[in-house]
Amino acid sequence: METAQAVESLMPAPTTPLKQCVNEIPLIDPHSSTTAGHEAKSLLVKTPMPAPEFQHTVGKTASFSGTALHTGDKVTLKLHPAPVDHGIKFKRKDLQDEPTIDAKIENLKTVERATTIGEGPVRVHTVEHILAALSAMGVDNAIVEMDANEPPIGDGSAQPYVDLIKKAGVMAQEQRRKFFDVREPMHVEAKTGALLVLLPDDKFRISCTQAGPNNRFAQFLSMEITPTGFECEIAPARTFVYYEDVEPLMEKNLIKGGSLENAIVVRGEAVLSKEPLRFPDEFVRHKIIDIIGDLALVGRRIRGHVVAVKPGHAANAELARALAREQTRRSAMSTPRAIPIGDSGLDTGEVMNILPHRYPFLMVDRVIGFEGENKITAIKSITINEPFFQGHFPGHPVMPGVMQVEAMAQVASILLFKLTKTSSRVGYFMSADQVKFRKPVFPGDTIFIHAELTRARGNRMAKTKCYCVVNDAIVSEAELMFTFLDK
Ligand SMILES: [Zn+2]
Repeated sequence: METAQAVESLMPAPTTPLKQCVNEIPLIDPHSSTTAGHEAKSLLVKTPMPAPEFQHTVGKTASFSGTALHTGDKVTLKLHPAPVDHGIKFKRKDLQDEPTIDAKIENLKTVERATTIGEGPVRVHTVEHILAALSAMGVDNAIVEMDANEPPIGDGSAQPYVDLIKKAGVMAQEQRRKFFDVREPMHVEAKTGALLVLLPDDKFRISCTQAGPNNRFAQFLSMEITPTGFECEIAPARTFVYYEDVEPLMEKNLIKGGSLENAIVVRGEAVLSKEPLRFPDEFVRHKIIDIIGDLALVGRRIRGHVVAVKPGHAANAELARALAREQTRRSAMSTPRAIPIGDSGLDTGEVMNILPHRYPFLMVDRVIGFEGENKITAIKSITINEPFFQGHFPGHPVMPGVMQVEAMAQVASILLFKLTKTSSRVGYFMSADQVKFRKPVFPGDTIFIHAELTRARGNRMAKTKCYCVVNDAIVSEAELMFTFLDK
């Protein structure tokens, strides 16, 4: 690495306007034999599809060469198309049998200075910048082939990888993307002072605060991560290091490929780099690259808002692990439960004999059972075909809370019917108190609706406490009151 003193005369680095950023990812037409390679073509859709919902790969193989940061060796990286559900895999072309490593959080090995993944004895270092570029530019499936143990560092930013992806082109595939929808706030904290909070959002957003020692170079940026936004605002931001952190590494010769051409060095108040700062707040922008790259190891697109304070690879990886755990829990929860039918419950036909409601307003699939005279549990499976999802909301289906209240009222009515032992009287919904909506309900959820009679006055009035439960968590609750009238 060049010594810092040698370039101090270059500093302080003035900020130059960014080169004009034009986002032109060649979107490849699968029908055109001139643009798509034969290999990639066979992976493709037959008709154009709304892109954001579908998986994408690169249109053809593209490559670039450069220096590996840690060894200083020359390395060539080739980006190849891959089929649906393949994900991102790194391939070590330089090793016998050319082993591949899945870019998955389970394969995370170390997070010191950079993110390293591995399987068995095989390692790939410094994967975060290329993973960030692939994720943000919309590539879900690709093989990243290298003839060394890390990608070329380029200029220390994600720009070379964005250029590579644009060279290869991006194209839609026939399978839908997998998303991780943030349903409730999650957070991780690290001893370093790093704090990452993840909040529900229908977009992928990052709000990041970065601060150096003694809060020097405190910077903040908040934005939605889109291909255009990433390319123009984030990708050019270079790695920055603190001189006191890299000095021992330079002495041990651990960053042979490091130079002021691929990193900004901060020494005291001085900012040392070969090229002037690309943004006044270049550091926080680079932190956002690292967050996107590390969270790409979750293997799903995140719909949520990451609020990051002084983030680092360790905290980013911790959040990625928490997301993967939550995803595993959700997958386990969504397996169908054994639901009893017969004497203890009521099937759909019996429910419809009691309730006058019909499609699309019947909100009870089946009664699972009664507990004594006072309690009932019923279920309603929520599918994407529910009519209300068409408008609530387009592209982000969430069950309206009022429909959950309706479901509770219908289930409570069945309980009251059982109580009055007659269908000649009909219960009218009088009031709803203490209504609380605690968590969103999504397509694929099964709602367990519980109702308990808490007060009854003869055959004229009844009060019930009701809950909607999804995955063992209360999603909504209400106290509902009914009055009875002759039909
Ligand atoms: Zn980085």
